[in-house]
This record gives sequence, structure tokens and C-alpha cells, in this order.
Amino acid sequence: MTGNLIIISAPSGTGKTTILKQIMARLDGLAFSVSHTTRPPRSGEEDGRDYHFVDKEGFVALRDDHGFLEWAEVHGNFYGTSRKEVADRQAMGQDVLLDIDIQGARQVRQAAPEAISIFIAPPSWQEQEKRLKGRGTDSAETIALRLANARAEMADVDFYDFVVVNDELETAARMLEAVILAMRAKTRRDHNGAPLSLPEGVS
Ligand code: ADP
Ligand code: 5GP
Repeated sequence: MTGNLIIISAPSGTGKTTILKQIMARLDGLAFSVSHTTRPPRSGEEDGRDYHFVDKEGFVALRDDHGFLEWAEVHGNFYGTSRKEVADRQAMGQDVLLDIDIQGARQVRQAAPEAISIFIAPPSWQEQEKRLKGRGTDSAETIALRLANARAEMADVDFYDFVVVNDELETAARMLEAVILAMRAKTRRDHNGAPLSLPEGVS
């Protein structure tokens, strides 16, 4: 059976990357969609694992070739999701996690209305600022830009199917895990409520 498409968004510094690493280590059958970006790598980031790091020309060429399921400019850099990578993983029956911003989430909801969307929210603005600064990977200017964008991103929360507050890490990771597992058990129905398909293993 085709895997689920799972959109995960959060204001920068909320802890999304940290939670996703936990989830990837705990759950089988999950694939993380590795995005393309023009942002320079942070220390510890690996090309092909965290992102495909490309220059602007490479990004634009792929975009113009319709290689992206969605793409957006976020905090001054380009980011995009490879259409082929997502389709291949889903066809293998894996649930595909899309770590994308609110603009990308809007595009994927349009292109794939069956996608499930989850918003990870910070427990407070103060804590989010503390985490961004504490991460120690971004300049003061970059942090200020990301904080300024955070409130606008938060305004999109109502468009998501689920919201998980990342206060205590273990609790948040368990909640996200629960949502992903529940979606695997969900029946699929058409607009009239008639069943389309049953979860794997049910006949
Ligand atoms: P994002 O991917 O959302 O930008 P990160 O996963 O890089 O955020 O996390 C930002 C910082 O906050 C990191 O230093 C991380 O260790 C820390 N962090 C993440 N989750 C929590 C949490 N629940 N409590 C305290 N610190 C956290
Ligand atoms: P970062 O630079 O901190 O890794 O990511 C910045 C923002 O870009 C995050 O909100 C992240 O979800 C988003 N992002 C990462 N990859 C993609 C992508 O492929 N498409 C879109 N639209 N956003 C992305």
C-alpha cells in the first residue's frame, strides 16, 4: 500500500529537527524527504543526509524542470522537495516526512489533499528565542529574521490537522509518534463516506 505523506512545520528553533531525529530512530517504515536548499550547511550537517546543498543555478534548473513537488523562499534561501524522491518512497510503502515551511505546506495540501499535516509549536516565544540562541549555529542577524518570521508562521496553525507543543521533548516525540501510528490504522473514505481502502493486513 502507498505510504502516507506527512507534512511537519514549525517556527525555526522550536525543536522540529530534534524531534524528527527521535521519531526516525524509533519508527520503522518512515522516510525523511531530503530537501534541496541554497542555504550553506551548518556545522555537523551532511550533504545528502540533512539536505542536498545546491547553488542557486542548480536549484532554479531543477525547479524549471518541474523537479519539485513544492518550493519556497524561506528566511532568504530557497528550499524545495524533490517530486521523484517522495513518489519513489511512497510507492515503496514508506510514510514520507516532509519538513517544510508554511508556504510549502499550502502547496502540498493543494497538490496532494490526502497529505496529513502536523504543526509543532514552541511552548512560548521566550523559550523559542532561548533555543534559537542556545543552538549556537546562526548569526544574530539570522536569529532576528527567524524570530520575526515565527509569529506569521504561527498564524497558519489552524490549517494543520494536528498541533504538537514541544515543551518536554519526550512527551512531544511520543505525541508525534502516536499521530503517525494512528494514521497507519486509519481507513480511507470517499466524499460520501464509502470505504476506499482498509489499512494494511485487514481483509
Ligand atoms: P528547529 O529544527 O525547529 O529549528 P532544533 O531541533 O534545531 O530546531 O532545536 C533548536 C534547539 O533547541 C536545539 O539546540 C535543541 O537541542 C533544543 N531543543 C529542542 N527541543 C527541546 C526541548 N523540548 N527542550 C529544550 N530544548 C530543546
Ligand atoms: P533550516 O534552514 O532551519 O534547516 O530550515 C528553515 C525552514 O525551511 C524550516 O521551516 C524548514 O521546515 C523549511 N524547509 C526545509 N526544507 C524545505 C523544503 O523543501 N520546502 C519548504 N517549503 N520549506 C523547507
